[in-house]
Amino acid sequence: METGDMRCRPELVAQLKAGGRLVVLGAGESGAGAALLGKQKGYEVFVSDKGEVAARYKDVLTKTGIQWEENGHSVERILEADLCVKSPGIPDTVPLVEQLRQKGIPVLSEIEFASWFTNAILVGITGSNGKTTTAMLTYHLLKEGGLDVGLAGNIGDSFARVVATEKHAYYVLEISSFQLDGICCFRPDIAVITNITEDHLDRYGYQMENYIRAKLRIAENQRPTDHLVYDLDDPILAERIKAEQIPSRLWPGSLDKPLQAGASLKGNEIKISTDNETMKMKTDSVALEGRHNLKNTMAAATVARLLGIRKESIRQSVATFQGAPHRLEKVLKIHHVQYINDSKATNVNATYFALDSMSTPTVWIVGGIDKGNDYKPLMPLVREKVKAIICLGLDNSKIVEAFGNAVDLVVETYAMSEAVKVAYKIAERGDTVLLSPACASFDLFKNYEDRGDQFKACVKSL
Ligand code: ADP
Repeated sequence: METGDMRCRPELVAQLKAGGRLVVLGAGESGAGAALLGKQKGYEVFVSDKGEVAARYKDVLTKTGIQWEENGHSVERILEADLCVKSPGIPDTVPLVEQLRQKGIPVLSEIEFASWFTNAILVGITGSNGKTTTAMLTYHLLKEGGLDVGLAGNIGDSFARVVATEKHAYYVLEISSFQLDGICCFRPDIAVITNITEDHLDRYGYQMENYIRAKLRIAENQRPTDHLVYDLDDPILAERIKAEQIPSRLWPGSLDKPLQAGASLKGNEIKISTDNETMKMKTDSVALEGRHNLKNTMAAATVARLLGIRKESIRQSVATFQGAPHRLEKVLKIHHVQYINDSKATNVNATYFALDSMSTPTVWIVGGIDKGNDYKPLMPLVREKVKAIICLGLDNSKIVEAFGNAVDLVVETYAMSEAVKVAYKIAERGDTVLLSPACASFDLFKNYEDRGDQFKACVKSL
């Protein structure tokens, strides 16, 4: 279980900020970013990685004169640190992290560290699904609206790298729950929680409560003048935000409840009300498809309104926004069959919204590494829309068991080329072939991008 929730102690931060020995565990994007920023701020930096370090990070560390090691940790040296910044990929339960904590050495995340060195206005976006889409859209709205804004965090460059190398007045940050586990005083001016549904429970002692607490930490240091934007249709958020008595100004969004303040939907019109000002936009002018993307659009537009972006600018930007790849990405139409790549759907909730947005009979490619999935919520959509299931994973037993009786045709495949060929054979004029796996990709692929890229390549070669 993640145990790293250290509360905010400004006096400790002030002391740590002054410099000292900084150990960075994990030399990925966030670790390299933290090391660069640390070096720039005068820390004595040492980077240590249990595995091999990617060539591009080795280069940048060496060029900047930062000491680093790979394929193992020099434990004694690490335990002399004044401060440790840990990559979000390293669980809190590894012995080295426990040793650091036992010695009283603060172990923090890179977003906490980076936030010490900027006075920019921060928009922090977290949630189980929709982080990347909402962060990219928010960034687009603010940039097109004329603000000097950077995009960082879990997406592209790390926050620390951007603070070290670029200077912006605003940052939109995509933040995972693992990054929130390692904060103490991090405080976004505007926090967004898109939703909270089961994911990553293996890192939270299989306790949903621990995962919920991690997500809510995004608002834990907020003040009454800060803002929290969230989805009121999400039962966990609706209940918990009320119960927690969060001091921030609350801006809910809902697709089915009328709201005085926040974002709501009436017919085919989105209404966003902030501080006695209301803006409206038609749902059919929103470029992104799917009901979940209306929610993401509402959240992003609420942030843009809170930051004073003009209504007309928001309306225009929402209409022109190109979504991120691997998220309900239309690939090709072949013989009147639409192929859609939703490889980023690595959990049941994301796949729920993919199936929900299907308006034709669907051949559904699903499977991979099951993270303890409960497939029940998908059953009504599968019965209504799915004509065939193509399993794509090393072990497909749970999927076959869950849907074997609900769908006439269930085929097991073990390579993308095979899955796409079978889909091509089954799909008829007017159907959709949807890759929306609801599972992680590491059994057959390097990652979800590799899975989506292979899907696109196989479709293109049909
Ligand atoms: P994240 O960065 O949180 O993983 P993404 O924007 O990359 O989120 O989307 C991940 C998956 O979740 C995609 O399959 C996408 O279609 C789906 N998705 C996007 N927004 C939402 C939402 N608000 N609710 C549920 N699923 C969503």
